[in-house]
Amino acid sequence: MQTSIQDFYRATPWGQEAEHILRNCVHCGFCTATCPTYQLLGDELDGPRGRIYLIKRMLEGGTVSGTTRVHLDRCLTCRACETTCPSGVEYGRLIDIGRELVEPLAPRTRSQRLSRRLLRLILPWPRRLAALTALGRMMRPLMPASLRDKLPRPDASSRDWPDARNGRRRVLVATGCAQKALRPATNAALARLLDRLGIDAVDAPDQGCCGALSQHLAAGDEAAAFARRNIAAWWPAIEAGAEAILVAASGCGVMVKDYAHLLRDDPVYRERAEQVSNLTRDPVEYFADQELAGLRIDIAGVGKIAFHAPCTLQHGQKLSGQVEALLRSLGFELTVVADAHLCCGSAGTYSVTQPEIATQLRDRKLANLLQAGPRRIVTANIGCQLHLESGAGQRVWHWLELLDECGLSL
Ligand code: SF4
Ligand code: SF4
Repeated sequence: MQTSIQDFYRATPWGQEAEHILRNCVHCGFCTATCPTYQLLGDELDGPRGRIYLIKRMLEGGTVSGTTRVHLDRCLTCRACETTCPSGVEYGRLIDIGRELVEPLAPRTRSQRLSRRLLRLILPWPRRLAALTALGRMMRPLMPASLRDKLPRPDASSRDWPDARNGRRRVLVATGCAQKALRPATNAALARLLDRLGIDAVDAPDQGCCGALSQHLAAGDEAAAFARRNIAAWWPAIEAGAEAILVAASGCGVMVKDYAHLLRDDPVYRERAEQVSNLTRDPVEYFADQELAGLRIDIAGVGKIAFHAPCTLQHGQKLSGQVEALLRSLGFELTVVADAHLCCGSAGTYSVTQPEIATQLRDRKLANLLQAGPRRIVTANIGCQLHLESGAGQRVWHWLELLDECGLSL
C-alpha cells in the first residue's frame, strides 16, 4: 500500500515502524473474514482492513474524530487477522501505535479517562485486586446479577510451592498480577509439576504485572516501566542459572516475549530485555523440550475436555494446537470445538471496556465449547478463564491445574 506519512511522524522510530507495516498491506481483505468484531458488527471499519486504513489516515494527517477512536477501541487485539494475512502484516504492533496516536488527537471524556485510570491503578497490582475482589464477595448479595456473575469464584486449590532442592535444574516462574491475585493455584500447580519432573520453580519476590494491561490501555510508557521492573527482579535468578522463564498465562507470555521489542531503544535495558525474551517460554513449549517418556498420570474420571485456545497462545505466540497435542498424548479425550480461532471476548481489559461485544463473543464461544458435552472446559490464560467462567456456571481450568490434579509425574 502506498503511504504519505507526515514527516513529523516519519522522524520517530514508531512512525517508521508503522510505515513499514502499512506498506506490507496490499488491502486484499482476507483478514476481514476471521475478524470477530467484523463478524459481529458487519462494518468495514470494525475489521482489520478498515482499522489499518484509519491508522494510515491519522499518520497522513487526515481527519481524526471520536469515531476513529471507537473503531480502534473495539479491536480485541486478538491478532486472528495476523494469522490469516498472507502478506505478514504485523497488525498487533500497528494497532498499539494507532491507539497511542489517537489518544491526544481525539481525547476521551473525563469519565472515560477516569475509568481507564482506575483500571490501571487496580488490575496490575495483585494486593489491590485481591482486596477489591474480597470486598466484592462480601457485597455479593447486594449486587445485581450482571455484576455478581463477573466476580471471580473463590479458589480453594492448593497454593503450596515445593521447596527448592540443591543441585537441581531450575526455571523462573513469572507469576504476573491477575493470576497471582485471583488464581494463585495455577502457578503453584506449575511449580509442583516441575518439582515432580526434577526441576525447581523459582519465584522472584519483586516481580509484578508484565505490562500487557497498560499496553492494552494505550499506556506504553507504563508498560515499559513494568517490563523494566520485572527484568530487574528476574535478573538475579537469570544470573544464577535459571534455564527458562515460564509464563503460565499466555496473555502475559506474549507480552514478555515482546520485551526485546518494547525496550529496543533503551540503552540500559535493551540487552537484558533481549535475553529475557529469548528465555521466555509458555509451559507447553518447555514441556515439549523435556524427556517425558515414562510419565505417570491418572486421568480416570476426567471425561471429555473442551479446550479453549487463547488468542495470545494461538495468534500471539503462534503455538496453535500444542496444548491440545500434549493433552491428547497424555490420554485425555478432547472434543472438536467449532470456530476455535475466534476470540472469547476477554482480551485483557476488553470485557470491562466493551462489555456488550465481549458478552456476545463469550456466549458464542461457550456454545461452541459446550456443544459436544464436555465434562470440563480447559484453557491457558487467566483472562479467558475468568471471562468464560462468568457465563459458564462452572469452573474453567488451566491445563496446568488439570495435569497437577491428575498427578502427572515421572
Ligand atoms: S492485513 Fe493482510 S490480509 Fe488484511 S488487507 Fe492487509 S494484506 Fe490483506
Ligand atoms: S486483532 Fe482481532 S479484533 Fe482486531 S482487527 Fe484483528 S482480528 Fe479483528
